[in-house]
Amino acid sequence: MQINSPTAEPPLMSPVPIRSLWSDEEAARYQGDLALRVYTSRLLGRDKSLVLHGGGNTSVKVRARNLLGDEEDVIHVKGSGWDLETIEEAGFPPLPLDYVKRLATLPVLSDAQMSNELLTHTLRAGAPAPSVETILHALLPYKFVDHTHADAFIAISNTADGSARIREVYGDSLVYIPYVMPGFDLARSCAAIFPRERTPQTIGMALEHHGLFSFGDTARESYERMIDLVRRAEDYLRRNGAWQIPFETAPTPAAVPALTLATLRRELSEVAGFPLLLASTGDERGRAFARRTDLGRVATQGPATPDHSIRTKRVPMVGRDVKAYSAAYRRYFEEHAHRTGRKLTMLDAAPRVVLDPEFGLLAVGRTVAETAIVAEIYAHTIEIICRAERLGGWAALSSADIFDVEYWELEQAKLQVKGTKPLFQGEVAVVTGAASGIGKACVASLLKRGAAVVGLDLNPSITSTFNRRDYLGIVCDLTDEASLRTALAQAVTAFGGVDMLVLNAGIFPPGAPIATLPTENWRRVLGINLDASFVLLREAHPFLKLAPKGGRVAVIGSKNVPAPGPGAASYSASKAALNQLVRVAALEWGKDGIRLNTIHPNAVFDTGLWTPEIIAQRAKSYGLSVEAYKTNNVLRTEITSHDVAELAAELCGPLFAKTTAAQVPVDGGNDRVI
Ligand code: ZN
Repeated sequence: MQINSPTAEPPLMSPVPIRSLWSDEEAARYQGDLALRVYTSRLLGRDKSLVLHGGGNTSVKVRARNLLGDEEDVIHVKGSGWDLETIEEAGFPPLPLDYVKRLATLPVLSDAQMSNELLTHTLRAGAPAPSVETILHALLPYKFVDHTHADAFIAISNTADGSARIREVYGDSLVYIPYVMPGFDLARSCAAIFPRERTPQTIGMALEHHGLFSFGDTARESYERMIDLVRRAEDYLRRNGAWQIPFETAPTPAAVPALTLATLRRELSEVAGFPLLLASTGDERGRAFARRTDLGRVATQGPATPDHSIRTKRVPMVGRDVKAYSAAYRRYFEEHAHRTGRKLTMLDAAPRVVLDPEFGLLAVGRTVAETAIVAEIYAHTIEIICRAERLGGWAALSSADIFDVEYWELEQAKLQVKGTKPLFQGEVAVVTGAASGIGKACVASLLKRGAAVVGLDLNPSITSTFNRRDYLGIVCDLTDEASLRTALAQAVTAFGGVDMLVLNAGIFPPGAPIATLPTENWRRVLGINLDASFVLLREAHPFLKLAPKGGRVAVIGSKNVPAPGPGAASYSASKAALNQLVRVAALEWGKDGIRLNTIHPNAVFDTGLWTPEIIAQRAKSYGLSVEAYKTNNVLRTEITSHDVAELAAELCGPLFAKTTAAQVPVDGGNDRVI
């Protein structure tokens, strides 16, 4: 990286120095050892420079009386599936301390056997699986034990002379453990080294290439010691010019090259064998990092800590050559597969992190949650690498050591667990008119099936119609071509492509006979219901064509197409023309693997168009009760937005994989249509 004069450029790191978050007032709400264990675990979890996404673990040892009145020592250790930031008492499975300590005396114990022993010896039914570091926590003769993967520590440890530097920072405050894979072997290694090297000054342990442990008699003491240990690492970075690091800002790309992104996502999905999302982080530091001239050297050594490899793969893809990356991944697998002595299942060969000089940092994953985790982990990795480079050279663990973690027994076992994955996992849908009614219901039905969904609407409330990471609401005037193109580009930037399109937006003007129908009314209705749909179809076509599982379009038509009514000329004509447009598109786009189907709903009363007053008025004009009016169809059933949305979602699914240009009524049976 080029270091500019210290005057103009903003810092690469805007480092926030570590500080204790302990508050007496907050702590007072946590009574007892386990409650305080929860409190300080959350304090660790709040600081992302200490632990990320399930990383790190903590424990407390207590004396408890069982139902028979016997006293026993019990260790509560973080359970898997819990995040320190949000952990509760239920997230700490209790285990008999003596039994767990005795496990460490076994000469060998496979990770599968170890996790079986730990799980079957928890003292509470339904407790989560204890951390793989449980035996290590049990062996340490301290009431409270805290473990983090602090960025500052890793930046120092992951250098060529990292061990010497770490000893320089900590002196005899810590016991040093050379790198050993996490799990039983690490516990055994610590069991051998710790009693031998511990001194009266010892307050923790340094695990090479991995992280820090701190201990204490109270939750606060152990926590404050961890903060102090990290502070010492930060001070070292400061003293060695590796804290505030300026960076060269990369120019912002002129336009989002959405089609290039979508093409890349298609290639990634092909290599993986299933649809993947591709999220552009827009992170300025990520873009600056991706432009380093030495990127090939610094970015392809390995992750910051071995367990990141499970989320990010061992190395990112530098540039866009997906074939070369996957070939290299296969070679890495074949080179190391013999190491475990077990038969291994190769993971998909697609990267999870992409570093591209133009796009910057891109995150790849099966779900939006996965891409968000990948992006956050790699943002921290960038900081760690830059700091280590300042200390004389980033040096990650060997690929063999990373392989052992990426392919360790327990991760492989997870692959064998058969579960049903959501129907649209890894796919992206765009829904128009999504702020209310049928459109909003379509978003919900697609989200429920695992899709990432982009909602378009003129109504500004679209941005907050759903508050979740796999939903993006964009304010968009559908009659404005530029606005539509921008919205599609935003969808691709957020999620990587467009696989499904639900054409729902439309207006239903007040009834007027043709003889007196104003031209203005006619043009407005056709402009929104027909012209905007035409433009969106045309603009979405290149993206739909790139959909890994084939593009799908669901069109919300109307009963008025097969059975028009008087007084609705513009509406009926617009929907009939849209129907015909879709049939032509089905003919033209079949060769691109895109299928389009139309739904003809009728009398959907739970939308914004209908108020209880209007419904009552209409019912009265037909001489019917409201109930009879709402169910005035062959099946005598009421049609809801949800019914329409569920059908629209299913039309995009495998049930209709071999159907295109179909028109499906959802109207309870209409005698004029039948
Ligand atoms: Zn760890």
